[in-house]
Parts: sequence; structure tokens; C-alpha cells
Amino acid sequence: MRVGLYFCLCGESYVSDTPFQSASCLKCGGDLKIELDPTMKQLSLLEDRQLEHLWKLFSKVTFDKNDEGITERFLIWLPTTNRFFIWLWFAKHYSGTFANLPGKMSWQEHGTGGEAECECGQLIATGTSCFFNHKNGKIFCEACGKRIMMDLWLLEGYRNPWIRCADDPPFTRDSFLVVKTITELMEKFRQGNCSLGQAFIYKNLVFINQKDGGDEWLTIKDWCPFDSISFKAVLKHGDNYTRQFIKELLRYQIHYRKTPDYSIIESFI
Ligand SMILES: [Zn+2]
Ligand SMILES: [Zn+2]
Repeated sequence: MRVGLYFCLCGESYVSDTPFQSASCLKCGGDLKIELDPTMKQLSLLEDRQLEHLWKLFSKVTFDKNDEGITERFLIWLPTTNRFFIWLWFAKHYSGTFANLPGKMSWQEHGTGGEAECECGQLIATGTSCFFNHKNGKIFCEACGKRIMMDLWLLEGYRNPWIRCADDPPFTRDSFLVVKTITELMEKFRQGNCSLGQAFIYKNLVFINQKDGGDEWLTIKDWCPFDSISFKAVLKHGDNYTRQFIKELLRYQIHYRKTPDYSIIESFI
């Protein structure tokens, strides 16, 4: 993807995926210097506003789903760069929390209070569960929301020192299985003997197995990994208790949680 950065002597900078021949500064009217091949240093001068714009452009960059490498150049990053490496760059330079970047959303169990339409065209009736992006007010149907959130869940898996080592099979987006009911989820945990990296999605909860054949589930809600749970131990208290336990997880508040530490994936890449 061709992205142009535009710098003005007054200190303003702009981002565009349309390469203008010439452009003038909106602030001072001066001529902008166009940079189609920016350096790392120039990128680090960008402010949140431009980073948010770049993030939107980056979300259109294609990547190989088998190894998460980008398949076209994006700014300074060449094809095959692991796209989570680029995520981390954004996380480092953006002053807000990573959770506030467009694309991070939270689940609304009882809808958002009105009828809405997802980008895919599906109508979301009043009271229907959906994903909501507070930052830009966008509403997504359950299927689209999960597809977008999958990126974050993959990132959290790669950040985990055990899950990222899964090789039989490797940890990929195919590792995730959507489970429709609590009963079905309990059955999966009861059966056990899951391979490392096996993951279950129930509503906006994600459980990823951290131990081959074992029972240590990295538990994520929306964007936030917040616990490691051994479900065999929970199931010992009976089905009702387990059902209640999972319902409590759905109610668990993650809002006060701080931005995660990204040092782990940095060493991984
Ligand atoms: Zn200017
Ligand atoms: Zn949709």
C-alpha cells in the first residue's frame, strides 16, 4: 500500500493514501513536503491523529493468514513482516491505550439500545447482542465482531510464552472454535485432553489452552487477558457452580485494567 506523509515547516504533518502531487498546509497554508518513503525517525514524529489515520490504512493491508506476515509493503515495513510487530509499533507510539485504537471493541450483551446495521448489511435488532466500538460508535454483528476481535485474541496467544510454542497443531486462527452454550463449553472442559493452543470462544470470552493435554486456560474478555483457569477444579463443585462461575466471568469488569505489557511478543518476533 502506497501511503504518503506530508510535512510542513510549521511542524504540522498529514497522512494520506492518495499521493497528491502538491498540497498545502491547512494550518499555515505553506507548501507541504511529500514523503512517500518515510524513515523510522519521521514516523516517530507523528501524533495520535495521524497514527489513528495510519492505523485505519494499516487495517486494509493484506496478510498471509498462515504466518500473519503482511503481503504488501506498508510504510517502512516490507512484505512478510509479522503484522503483530507493526501493532506493537503502534502500541508504543500511540499515547492512548491500545484498547482505544479503532478496531478494539466491547461486547454488548443486550444490544446498544436501538436498531442498527452492521457493515456486512445484517440488521441488528433492538436488544440483540453485538460488538460496539465506543471510539467511533460503530456497531458490528456478532460474526463480524468476532472476526475483528480474532486479531486481538491471536495477538494475546502469541504473547503467551506457552501458547506460542504450540506446534502440533500450531496456534493459528483455526485453533478457535465458537461454542454456543455454557453446557457445550462445560462439556469441552470436562472432556479435556485438548492440545496446546486449542481455543474456545463463548460470547466475548475466549479460553486458550496453555498446556498440551492439560487444563490451564488463558482467559480473555474482549481485549483483555485477565486470568488463567483450571476448569477441572471448577467442575468438581458441580454443574450449577460451574455455570454460575462462567456467568460471573461474563460480568467481570475489565475497564480498570491497564494496557498490557508488550515486551513478550517483542522478544518473540
Ligand atoms: Zn503549516
Ligand atoms: Zn456483520
